[in-house]
Amino acid sequence: MAIKERISPIERKPEERAKDFLEVSLGFDEERAITEARRCLQCKNPPCISGCPVGIDIPGFIKQIVEKNFENAYKILKKYNSLPAICGRVCPQESQCEKACVLNKVGQPISIGNLERFAADWASRNNVKDEVLIEKKQNKKIAIIGAGPAGLTNAAEMAKRGFNVDLYEVFHTAGGVLVYGIPEFRLPKEIVRKEINFLKNLGVDIKLNLPVGFAIHPRKLLEEYDAIFIGVGAGTPKFMNIDGTELNGVYSANEFLTRINLMKAYEFPKTDTPVKFAKKVVVIGGGNTAMDAARSALRLGADVTIVYRRSENEMPARKAEIFHAKEEGIKFKTLTQPIRYIGENGKLIGIECVKMKLGEPDESGRRRPIPIEGSNFIIETEIAIEAIGTQSNKLLLSQFKGLELNKWGYIKADEFGRTSIPKVFAGGDIVTGSATVILAMGAGKKAATAMNDFLS
Ligand code: FAD
Ligand code: SF4
Repeated sequence: MAIKERISPIERKPEERAKDFLEVSLGFDEERAITEARRCLQCKNPPCISGCPVGIDIPGFIKQIVEKNFENAYKILKKYNSLPAICGRVCPQESQCEKACVLNKVGQPISIGNLERFAADWASRNNVKDEVLIEKKQNKKIAIIGAGPAGLTNAAEMAKRGFNVDLYEVFHTAGGVLVYGIPEFRLPKEIVRKEINFLKNLGVDIKLNLPVGFAIHPRKLLEEYDAIFIGVGAGTPKFMNIDGTELNGVYSANEFLTRINLMKAYEFPKTDTPVKFAKKVVVIGGGNTAMDAARSALRLGADVTIVYRRSENEMPARKAEIFHAKEEGIKFKTLTQPIRYIGENGKLIGIECVKMKLGEPDESGRRRPIPIEGSNFIIETEIAIEAIGTQSNKLLLSQFKGLELNKWGYIKADEFGRTSIPKVFAGGDIVTGSATVILAMGAGKKAATAMNDFLS
């Protein structure tokens, strides 16, 4: 009979991991992976597959783990997903494949994400080589702008189809949010580097430190290339724009995380970029970005409070991230809205906040927060990090003549990434607004199909 108890991954103790940037979850060892894989019912019509945005043969790879054919498990995963070690770690499985698993009806779903991660990590430890199958060489050139999950996936798919691919990236490292946003303790950068090496083996020319729209005009790319894929993400931070935003100590989460993750500011002056260290830090927001910023600040030695205007139930962050943040000692001040930053000599010293209550649901379906009159109070802090969302970078998009945008400023594209300019395709956050790694990858993959059709 199948075992109903879900197996937990191995995790480092909160008091130990809160002091460093090493990975929090260590995943499954072989024994745990096999025990968990055995719980899978190998359903004839598996609903978990339809819950996966890239349609992985989930029972197929799990069966291979049961039979201890870990290499085969990895190969099945890789057929559908070019970044399994990354997706196994950061995909919101609880709202995708695991949500659809039939075992939810009788207990807990299969831990599909941890099994995916196990198979990918096993392959990496055992130096399993990825097959580099390139179809007949095509005499056509593709430019991809942005080396995040959307651009990387599109690059791999186009290179496999035999096209000459140039991938332009503004930063000195490829990976997008995977390297500048998501911290090392959730996603070690070595894993991202390995996946990117696979692209190099496919012959993709990764051109780093090249901001398109600044160093190169899109017009030039349109002249030189047969097709273009735009995967520049939506990394421009939004601010609350309350009084005092200009004070020293007020950061956007993107800036704070980029300094720490990409520039390793915590090693300054060994590295070039500094970051302000403080005893008290307040992070404003309730998404994954807020959790990442808060947990990073904690690791720099700060006493951290997350301030969120709704209740914990409405927080968009993954439940596991909220749980980990609490375990590590981060405080949560929910139903609280900052209304003014308070400064002294140009430096932040506090935030004036107001208490909120929840009203009727708004257009997002979540209950609308309403300020409670006269409930103002002050939180003392030296750093405030705003993690309230991001938007598109209009400067680059405005340089593509005739490129249509939607009312939120994202590129208008159909489900295959076709835009209003025939040879320009787009996908990922720049089309959908901030979403997920797997959706960006799916968009890069679908656009490759349309680009291939267009070019042939
Ligand atoms: P990005 O990852 O943003 O990549 C875009 C790339 O384009 C970047 O490398 C950028 O430098 C480059 N670029 C931009 N402009 C130019 C230019 N003009 N020229 C050249 N290059 C340019 N999703 C999950 O599924 N799970 C998570 O746990 C999760 N956690 C997150 C945590 C944080 C802190 C953040 C910010 C996001 C998180 N997300 C998570 C969301 C997820 O990372 C994004 O949805 C995904 O990365 C979008 O991929 P993308 O390729 O569209 O864009
Ligand atoms: Fe296994 Fe759950 Fe998928 Fe059924 S739905 S095949 S039990 S993972």
